[in-house]
Formats: sequence, C-alpha cells, structure tokens
Amino acid sequence: MGTRGRERPGRHRRETIMKNAGTGPSAGRPPHRPAVRGPVLEPGAEGYDAGRSGFQTAVRHRPDLVVGATGAGDVQAAVEFAAARSWAVTVQATGHGAAVPAAGGLLIDTRRMAEVRVDPAGRTAWLAAGTRWAAVVREAARYGLAPLSGAAPGVGAVGYTLGGGIGLLARRYGYAADHVTGIDAVTADGRLRHLGPDGEPELFWALRGGGGGLAVVTGMRIRLMPVERIFGGGLYFAADEPAHAAELFRGYLDWTGGLPDRLTSSAALIPMPDVSGVPEPIRGRRVLHVRVAYDGGAVEGERLAAPLRALAPVLIDGLGEMSYADSGSIYTDPTEPHGYQGTNVMLSGLDEAGLSAALAATGPDAPVPCIVESRHLGGALSVAPEVPNAVAHRDARHNLRVISPLGPDGAAAARPVHRRFVAALGHLALGATPNFHYGAQEPAQLLATHDPATRTRLAAVKTAYDPAGVLRSRD
Ligand SMILES: Cc1cc2nc3c(=O)[nH]c(=O)nc-3n(C[C@H](O)[C@H](O)[C@H](O)COP(=O)(O)OP(=O)(O)OC[C@H]3O[C@@H](n4cnc5c(N)ncnc54)[C@H](O)[C@@H]3O)c2cc1C
Repeated sequence: MGTRGRERPGRHRRETIMKNAGTGPSAGRPPHRPAVRGPVLEPGAEGYDAGRSGFQTAVRHRPDLVVGATGAGDVQAAVEFAAARSWAVTVQATGHGAAVPAAGGLLIDTRRMAEVRVDPAGRTAWLAAGTRWAAVVREAARYGLAPLSGAAPGVGAVGYTLGGGIGLLARRYGYAADHVTGIDAVTADGRLRHLGPDGEPELFWALRGGGGGLAVVTGMRIRLMPVERIFGGGLYFAADEPAHAAELFRGYLDWTGGLPDRLTSSAALIPMPDVSGVPEPIRGRRVLHVRVAYDGGAVEGERLAAPLRALAPVLIDGLGEMSYADSGSIYTDPTEPHGYQGTNVMLSGLDEAGLSAALAATGPDAPVPCIVESRHLGGALSVAPEVPNAVAHRDARHNLRVISPLGPDGAAAARPVHRRFVAALGHLALGATPNFHYGAQEPAQLLATHDPATRTRLAAVKTAYDPAGVLRSRD
C-alpha cells in the first residue's frame, strides 16, 4: 500500500514552521503545528532524533515533523494537519520493521501510547498502539493467559499483528491477526473509526494482515490463550562445516514432518560473533539454533524433542518446562538497536536443490554474515479465521528467511547475496510474509506479500479510505 512521491514541504515551508514553532494556531491563518498534547518536534529540536529513531538503525526517517502522540486525539490532529497540507504521514512504534525511510512529511511516534488492559473473564486484552509484546505477555501472565507474541518481546504488538504475526505458538493458534476482535483506527480524513466484523468490515478485514499504510491504528482488542506453562527453549548444534550445516538443517526439516500442531519451531543457522557475552561453547562458531514452543506438557515435549536431540552432539541444551512469561528467552534475539536487512520466502515445500542453493548463497563465503532461518508453518496457520482477514499464503509449509546485520556499507554487499537466496527458492515460492521483510531493499529481493486477489482488494480499500495517498506503508 505504498504512497511514495507525495508533495513534501520544501525548504521555505520548513523554515516557516521552525520560525513559528510553539506559537500555536493564529486567528484567520492555518496553524503551523498540530494541536496535540504530545511533543511536536522539528529537525534540530531536542528529542527529534530520539523520536524518529527506532530499533532498525539502517533506515533513518527524516520527517519534517515528529508528533509524539499520546492518544487517539493526537493521532487525529496530526493526520488532519498533514492531510490539509498534502504531507505524507508515516507511523512508527518501535522501529523493528522500518523499511522505507520517511523523507519529509510527518512521523507519528506511538511509543507514548503504551497501555494494556486485560479482561481475564473475556480472555482478551486491549492494546494501545505503542505497546510492546513484553508488556502484554507480563500482564496476561497474571491471569494465566498468553498473547500470540513472537520471538522478540521488544517488538510492537500492533505493527506485528498488522503484518499477520507468526508467533511462538503459531501452529497451534494461527496468526496473531486471526485473533483480533476489534480495532480503533484513524483514517486519512482524520476520523477515528471503531472497526469490527460489523463496523466497517472491509477496513477491518484489510488491517488484519494487510500491513500498514491503510489507517493509523490507535488500539486493538486481541484474544488471549489459556497458556501458563510451555515446554520450550533452544538447542545449539555445531554447524561450522557447510556440508554438516546442510545435513543438520535437513535433519531439522525432516523432524518437523511428524509433529503435532501444538509444537511450533524454527531453526536458524547463525554465525555467532566471537565476543565476550556469547557463551563459550558457541562463541565464534556457526551454529544451528533450533527453537521450540510446545503447549502439550513437559513429558510429551521431552518425547517429541528426543529425535531432535539425537541429530548431533548438542552444544547447549536449553529445552525444558518454562512459564510463558519467560518465553522471550527462547530465541535470544538481539535487543540493542542496530542495522539489518533481510527478506523471506513462503514455501510450498522445500526440495534438495532449493535448500542447497539457498544455503550455498548465504554460507561462510558470502561477503556479509547471513542468518538463515526456517520457521515451521502449517497447522492452524493454514486455517482461515471465522472472520476472514487479509493474511495470505496460508498453504505455505515453511518460511525461509535471510537476515544480515549491516556494517557501514553493508546494504550494498548484502543485496546480491539476498537476491541469490530468493532466486534459489523461486520455484517453491508462494510469496513472502510482510513481517520478515527487513530494511530498505530492491524489488528483486521482494516477493509479493499477498496473492493477486488480496492485493486488488487491499488496493480498493486504500482507494476508498485514503484516496489522496496520505498514509505511507513500509513496502
Ligand atoms: C528481532 C525481531 C524479531 C521479530 N520476531 C518476529 C516474530 O517472531 N514473528 C513475526 O511475525 N514478526 C517478527 N518480527 C517482525 C516484526 O513483527 C515486524 O517488523 C513488525 O512490523 C514490527 O512492528 P513494530 O511496530 O515493532 O515496528 P515499526 O517499525 O514501528 O512498525 C512496523 C510497520 O508497522 C506500521 N505500524 C506500526 N504501528 C502502526 C499503527 N499504530 N498504525 C498503522 N501502522 C503501524 C509502521 O508504519 C511500519 O510500517 C521480528 C522483528 C525483529 C526485528
């Protein structure tokens, strides 16, 4: 749902804004800044850099104004202000998914809108736009409940869910977007709308899996699952030799063939840095990290994990029973902001040729370090929810993705590698999932996040609700 190339305030306008900053609306003249409770920050102002920055440091937004929204009223005022001037509006929560850098226009920073309200009897939670999964997991756990959160507790729950959301228990319960029961969103005309199956159902359909750029979500209600304890964690295997890495990866994929839907897993080939803080057995080595979450009990979990443990000597065994509140430890994803780029492929299956070529393109000889991860899909992810949504490629069996942490000129080096990775899997590709497109990329690295019929329907929603293309998306 992209809206690039919009008219942006030029130098003269920016100077005017800065000159008038803080003066508020004047009688008979349009206001020079939106009337909001949160901060409004121009380039150079204290707090501007913090407001435009997020987890992904390789994509730098350079908006003309950052609005630190404190609630739906601020979002409305910001959108109205921008729309009246034909400025583009970009939204950022945590910046984990930033991909298209905003150059000019207005950036709505939702981080101040962080609030979770759990309804234990109804097994739901209301999340404000800037809430991170960590807060939702913590609040839900007080009632023995769990959200359909993913690998990293620092990710924004709303941005994740707009893109579908493949969580730790995804095969058991489906996409996070399948369990949204209501959404509040501000559309490009500045109206706050209450969306649900009976309230503007087409926009409600689109926002659940269609990605950003359609409306600014101010909050959403999600279902919580009765999950208190799981069997989960990670196993690390040595995978220094490319041939051994491929064999292990195949072993993991074979293991997934016979699993119940209650078990969701992934495996990642990771070149571990040789730095203190990384545990000694895996420091500086290429490893296969298999991640598991199972909500069928520890005894059965141990039985299911036995063939996995038998694949090769285990360097670190972190599998065991745990509280869902500790599930953020399963992936050990990085928590500090950094630059990265990556792409993904939703696969109908995985054959020997595709796997070998994808691993060869991203192996130790690649000019940039590559993490290659496979997520096991299927199960409830294949089943459309009762109230249909815009999540596509439900028949995918695996998602394979590549991610490279970026140094100063890393993007240029990563692009051809990631392009080869996608090309190797092309014959098995159904498309991609929006959430695993990381950082600014060229079109050749991006597969379609939605099938043609869904794309057409999403485009119609965009035209109906944002005909002038005020709201930007990351794709
Ligand atoms: C370390 C890491 C681990 C991850 N693990 C998983 C995982 O397990 N499963 C999974 O599915 N994904 C995962 N992701 C991907 C993640 O879900 C997406 O990148 C998601 O878009 C991040 O949302 P955010 O709000 O945190 O990021 P942001 O960059 O702030 O937002 C991402 C996108 O959503 C839009 N957006 C955010 N808030 C709103 C809003 N209120 N209204 C309208 N649009 C909005 C933004 O404009 C932007 O386009 C992971 C990403 C990282 C970096």
